[in-house]
Amino acid sequence: MIVCKFGGTSVADAAAILRTAEIVRGRLAQQPVVVVSAMAGTTNALIAAAEQAASSRLVVAIASVEALRSRHMAVVEELFGDDAAAREIAADESVLFDELAHLAEALSVLGHVTERSLDAVASLGERLSAPVITAALIRAGIDAVLVDARQVMITDASFGRAEPLPDAIAAACRDHLAPLLRAGKVPVIGGYLGATTDGITTTLGRGGSDYSASLFGAALEAEAIEIWTDVDGMLTADPRVVDGARLIEHIRFDEAAELASFGARVLHPNTIAPAVRRGIPVFIFNSMKPAGKGTRITFDAPRLPVRAIAGKANVVIVKVRSPRMLATPGALRAIFEVFERNRTSVDVVATSEVSVSLTVDDDQHLDSVVGQLRAFGDVGVERGRAIVAVVGAGLGESSPSMARALTAIGDVRLHMVSLSATGINLTLIVDGEELKPVMRRLHATFFGTVAT
Ligand code: ADP
Ligand code: ASP
Ligand code: MG
Repeated sequence: MIVCKFGGTSVADAAAILRTAEIVRGRLAQQPVVVVSAMAGTTNALIAAAEQAASSRLVVAIASVEALRSRHMAVVEELFGDDAAAREIAADESVLFDELAHLAEALSVLGHVTERSLDAVASLGERLSAPVITAALIRAGIDAVLVDARQVMITDASFGRAEPLPDAIAAACRDHLAPLLRAGKVPVIGGYLGATTDGITTTLGRGGSDYSASLFGAALEAEAIEIWTDVDGMLTADPRVVDGARLIEHIRFDEAAELASFGARVLHPNTIAPAVRRGIPVFIFNSMKPAGKGTRITFDAPRLPVRAIAGKANVVIVKVRSPRMLATPGALRAIFEVFERNRTSVDVVATSEVSVSLTVDDDQHLDSVVGQLRAFGDVGVERGRAIVAVVGAGLGESSPSMARALTAIGDVRLHMVSLSATGINLTLIVDGEELKPVMRRLHATFFGTVAT
């Protein structure tokens, strides 16, 4: 069997859903499990509505709920017309929209949003899209069955970014998905959301539907995990930043994981790990061009010095200076423990005898991190930085490529530089406004497009 995940743009409207149905139909022989995102833009709108409701703007929040309702109902009508089946789907959607309106009212009474209530709201995007897509597959003659993600995606209770529990997921997939597959049916599941063992709704963090797909793929020992999106595959850089970014036909797991972690949004950063554990190839395809080659991610793509460039903005550097402490054994561990306690992950680290610099891209708990780091010495925070990553499995062995990368960036101020232990990722921390020009210059150097 295979897992096919369709992202927001691949289910954004009736035409996209019909294309998706054709793609699934073309794969019936491979026994697909279908994982779907919310219709493009829905999750953003839901989160905004929750925040509006909690900050005395209930009327605005209810207006956005109504806009979402109209959009979903229009898609239902376009796909199914106005027969009895269509009315049944519309009624099911309506129940979910009423749930959403009640949640908005409750948030407005409480006057604040918790991670837990935000998950209840944000997860509605996938809970709304999945029944419509299931019905469209059935209309296309596919024996599709809707499965509630909360029965199979079992997580801990870290709301907002829940940790999946792989053993519980494997057991739930055996109970709820395997029998459907044996009966020749096509299960359809919303990505991104899950539930704790006692049934409270959680989410895996933004962009998490890719991660759902790979977790289900690993649990079911799939032959392949397919990510269907709005670009031809993984490209040599983000096409929204670099003109002329090229398709990567074959890439290694470790390279794809580095690119995803350093800004290549086409894959959620956690997608690769479950696939690697089971050695399941991951493919990325364009749902607008289903006949395209796409990208194949496996262990054995040839080692190149530079496979692609990635970058991300809004990076914060935290610097700790302590002439007394840092040379002592255990000092770095103690510093990292502060980040761990505050659930803040560190991307890049550079140390000297008297200082350590670390980057984070999630500043939610930064005040608490900084407060606790003061125990070690002077703490400085620099906002508005960006990370540029040059990624290639053979980079560490290629001095000419390293030299070309450093030459290409020009006389830009570098705040930190780091080469990963495996030599696969050269990361450069620059000022935020330099992110795009540096990415373009690096891309031009390694992939021969004209820098602007
Ligand atoms: P989906 O809704 O299908 O999950 P996303 O918007 O999450 O789609 O991811 C696809 C987007 O990722 C592309 O439109 C593109 O702008 C962005 N992207 C960033 N880096 C890359 C890259 N290296 N290759 C391809 N796409 C990339
Ligand atoms: N709908 C969720 C989001 O927008 C998850 C996803 O699309 O992967 O973040
Ligand atoms: Mg995505």
